[in-house]
Amino acid sequence: MKSFVYSNPTKLYFGEDQLSKLGMEGKRLGTRVLLVYGGGSIRRNGVYDAVMGELREAGAEVFELSGVEPNPRVTTVRRGAELCREHKIDWVLAVGGGSVIDCTKAIAAAAKYDGDFWEVVTKKAVVKDALPLGAVLTLAATGSEMNSGSVISNLEVEEKHGWGSPLVFPQFSILVPSFTASVPLDQTVYGIVDMMSHVFEQYFHQDSNTPVQDGFCESILRAIVQTAPKLVKDLGNLEHRGTILYCGTMALNGLLSMGVRGDWANHDMEHAVSAVYDIPHGGGLAILFPHWMDVASKKHPEKFAQLGVNVFGVNGEGRPVEKLAEDAIAALRDFWSSLGAPTRLGDYGIDDSKLELMAGKVTANGPRGHFLSLTKEDVLDIYRRAL
Ligand code: NAP
Ligand code: FE
Repeated sequence: MKSFVYSNPTKLYFGEDQLSKLGMEGKRLGTRVLLVYGGGSIRRNGVYDAVMGELREAGAEVFELSGVEPNPRVTTVRRGAELCREHKIDWVLAVGGGSVIDCTKAIAAAAKYDGDFWEVVTKKAVVKDALPLGAVLTLAATGSEMNSGSVISNLEVEEKHGWGSPLVFPQFSILVPSFTASVPLDQTVYGIVDMMSHVFEQYFHQDSNTPVQDGFCESILRAIVQTAPKLVKDLGNLEHRGTILYCGTMALNGLLSMGVRGDWANHDMEHAVSAVYDIPHGGGLAILFPHWMDVASKKHPEKFAQLGVNVFGVNGEGRPVEKLAEDAIAALRDFWSSLGAPTRLGDYGIDDSKLELMAGKVTANGPRGHFLSLTKEDVLDIYRRAL
């Protein structure tokens, strides 16, 4: 296990009655709030009205930015930062999924940044100040509600990158299972794939003596494997929604990465695909991850065998690890397919014409991945397998 420092300042509110805490939390951050949301789902499912009710009751003066895109754009970040400056905003409230929260983090930082925020996203500059922010989550997937990361796209240059700063941890996040009940089947599945992928990115590492971390990972994965098939058949079930919501947050709030160095090459490979083709993040991960596993398990089969036995109930008795690893990956493929996740880049109409370009983006700063180091040729190989 590596040395580590753990600090997560986000105050988490979970449960059906927890939106009532919004006014009190908001008041601590100021009166002038920019409410940031997406394409309108919160207006259709009643979350907008509930949030506005709480804010008004607390005496907040509310300004709005709507229309945040799935895969949020740097152009929207710039617009939000302008609004913050123009209206002397005290704090920013995200109401939505990972895209809205990521965009809100960028807006909060861009409002205090002199210059073009794309410089921060591309790591040419570092954030030194940010407005405080809070979140009301409506989609279980990214973990953005309790981490300091944010992923922003720039369509002009066909790039999508993650950036982060401790300054953009949400001050608070409110998780109400019924707010996620209107998430349609496809987005529910993408979210499930994304949170499982976050666990995998941290589970597959080269560090030794990590039984606690492995156990946390396997526990979250088992809960998802047990709950997701029931949820996709009963999308309005709030117990299942709640379990999945909790899994998504715990999968990427720092709990799993204490003392280990995760891999993250699959996220880099997916970001390159969605930067060029603007596909859903979870859909891209469902396609790529099993192929990466095929390659990685040839070099390091043990952890895959452990995954198979401890999460997918693969029978480990007297069988070679290589075989157990194959069974584990087959079980994952079956599981994601059974939920209806995509399996091929062709499912999104993606052909081989831009694979080279995307592989170049992934490896622009050298090989990617820590569990398995991937060169440009390795990335190309995985993209070709995924066609
Ligand atoms: P999302 O892009 O935020 O939302 C996807 C779709 O779901 C949108 O069309 C949204 O509609 C809809 N939606 C959200 N809540 C809904 C609800 N309650 N009912 C009905 N529809 C609802 O999805 P996401 O998977 O949460 O976020 C994906 C983004 O996060 C990607 O850009 C990905 O790269 C990034 N990401 C970030 C992190 C991180 O740690 N920061 C980690 C992984 C991925 P509306 O727009 O109308 O609301
Ligand atoms: Fe992700």
